[in-house]
Parts: sequence; C-alpha cells; structure tokens
Amino acid sequence: MGDKMIKVGVLGATGMVGQRFIQLLDKHPDFEIAALTASSKSAGKRYEDATTWYLDDSMPESVKNIIVSDTKPDDVSNDVEFLFSSLPTETAAIVEPKFAESYYVASNASAMRAEKDVPLVIPEVNPEFLDLIDIQQKNRGWDGFIVTNPNCSTIALTLTLKPIYDNFKINKIYVSTMQAVSGAGYNGVPSMAIVDNLVPYIGDEEEKIESETLHLLGTLNGIDVKEANFKLSASCHRVGIVDGHTEAVFIEFDETIDVDEIKNKMSSFKSIPQELNLYSAPKNPVIVKEEDNRPQPRMDRNANNGMSVTVGRVRKDPIFENNIKYVLVGHNTIRGAAGASILNAELISKKIL
Ligand code: NAP
Repeated sequence: MGDKMIKVGVLGATGMVGQRFIQLLDKHPDFEIAALTASSKSAGKRYEDATTWYLDDSMPESVKNIIVSDTKPDDVSNDVEFLFSSLPTETAAIVEPKFAESYYVASNASAMRAEKDVPLVIPEVNPEFLDLIDIQQKNRGWDGFIVTNPNCSTIALTLTLKPIYDNFKINKIYVSTMQAVSGAGYNGVPSMAIVDNLVPYIGDEEEKIESETLHLLGTLNGIDVKEANFKLSASCHRVGIVDGHTEAVFIEFDETIDVDEIKNKMSSFKSIPQELNLYSAPKNPVIVKEEDNRPQPRMDRNANNGMSVTVGRVRKDPIFENNIKYVLVGHNTIRGAAGASILNAELISKKIL
C-alpha cells in the first residue's frame, strides 16, 4: 500500500466497541473513517443522532454528520478498504463473509474465530498466523479476507503468558477474571443486576479463554494449528467496573522458577509490532508493577493509551512450590477489542498488502 490515507469503515459503529474504534481512528495517521454502519434502526440517521455516546472524550466532530448505513456490502462505498467489525456474533456470522468477498475485515466478533482458514491473531504473540490469509482467499475465492482478534480477557492473559511460555515449561494455568460491564455491550448488563453486586457467570467466556489461549500460543503448520501443550481452566465473573478487566492468574511450572526471572521476561517482552514501530503498538506490551496494591482497573487500564497490560503481585505460591501467581489488568474495549483490531490492520498494511 502507498503513502495515502487508507479509507476504513466501522461495522456496528454505534455500540461500545464501535465507539472505541471511532475514538482510536479519529487521529490515526494512516486510516481515515469513510463509512459507519449499524442496524436498520440506526441506518439513515446522522451518527450523532443514532448513538448514545458513552466515552469520556467527546464524540469526534468528523463523524457527527456521517449518515449511518445499513450493514450491507452494497451500502458501503467501494473506496473503503478495511472494515473494522464490532457486530454481534449472530450478525457477524452472516454478514462478515459477504463483506470479505471484496473488503478486508478485521473483526472483534467470535463468529469466524474457529474457522480453520481465518487467522486469530495478537500481533505480539502469533503474527505468523496471518499466513492463513492467502489460504483463506484461495479456499473461498474472496478478494478480501477476515482476520479476527481474540476475546478481551484472552488477549490480556495471553500477552502476559507469551514471554513466560517461550522461556519456561508450563504445566497448568488457573485464571479467575473480574470483568468490566462494558464487555457486555451497551445493553448487556442492567444496572440493577450489577451495582452493589457481582455476577459469577459470563456466557461462553470460560470456554473462549480456555480454547483461544492454547490456539494463540500454538504452532501453525500449513492450515493446522498445534495447540500449546498445557492445561488451562478459567472462572469468569462480571463486576461493577465500567472499563478494564482484572484477572488473577495461577501458573504451575515443571520446576521451581525464580520470580525475578518471570518479571524480567514480562517487562522486557517486545515483538514485531514494536520492531516495526506500528502506530498503536505500546513500547512495552506488559508493564510490571512492584506496589502491593496494583494493578487496579481505574489506575492502570489506560496504560500506554490502553494498549499495555499491567501486571502486579508477581509472587511465589506459598503452598504449591512450583507455582507462581500474579494479577493483571487490561483495557477490554481498547487492547481487548478495538485497539486489537486496529493493530492487526496496521500489521497487515505494513507486512502483507
Ligand atoms: P454493542 O454495544 O451491543 O453494539 C453492537 C453494534 O452492532 C451496534 O452498533 C448495533 O447497532 C449493531 N447491530 C446490532 N444488531 C445488528 C444487526 N442485526 N445488523 C447490523 N448491526 C447490528 O456490542 P459491543 O460490546 O460493541 O460488542 C460488539 C462485538 O464485539 C460483539 O461481537 C462482542 O462479542 C465483541 N467484543 C466486545 C468486547 C467488549 O469489551 N465490549 C470485547 C471483545 C469483543 P444499533 O445501535 O443500530 O443497534
């Protein structure tokens, strides 16, 4: 691709993740918003009239007068190259393949993640999985393609595991999440269900963390992925926090591991997005804090514009001698959703197109 701005669109632009896309794309040096879509109830309205804006920053002037279109390929201009999808899963399953016939789709939805020829990618963890794009285009006869990013809690967890997994033999991981309400979408959790409360169940979330993490840390061989060779069990909970997922992680190793070595591997971790100096890539994907009372969602979710995961309380388990435990916080709608798709698109634009 040349030096000109790449025109992009957001599918599901009025929702929680859609708004994050707009906020992050507003000042982007390479991408320019040229299309916004939503459901038929919003189509035909000015973006400002169709949207209940929830972010702290005000809605960018540049999008207020864009007329929201229906989420159909014929309603999106041909000049648009990348489409960022923040559609509900059921809608994504139907429309994303139609868009991918001619557009490049970077999706947050889980609908296509399990398809063998659709890359599920975190740029710092498994950028080589983007090789599946060629296979996908050949298999399906598409000029475009679909690339997906994982579920929000999986992204934060896997970013912290990658530097550990590459250096030490992991046997088992247990993770317990405390997830923000924005993760459920604008109409997701009624305030009466979550204020002064905790909901100990998030549909399909545990299964997604358990399968996606092993896939992301796996090895690509042609079209097949050999999953990472450890066991992982998750327990997921919704808490009354607006943004920022917290996760308590317990890792069992093959042998006793030094805590400082784990901290060093995490805090010095860098990968392809940092080497390529991609616009949305944080200098340090993982930040390690020493204070006993960190990380906290309100204080740490915006680290490096919400693109870094903050880890704290890295410590030896006093009961199980080969175990290490720690706590992490990641921004669920930035690193866990919109920022993740944008980083995928930046990597693809730089390396593939
Ligand atoms: P949301 O707030 O409910 O927004 C959904 C968006 O999709 C809205 O723009 C809505 O438009 C549009 N939409 C709904 N039904 C549609 C239809 N039939 N046709 C076309 N557009 C339709 O949801 P969200 O939290 O942004 O999540 C979006 C996707 O990202 C989901 O697949 C979710 O699982 C995934 N995700 C979310 C997070 C997170 O932290 N929130 C993290 C990772 C992944 P209207 O306003 O017109 O209804």
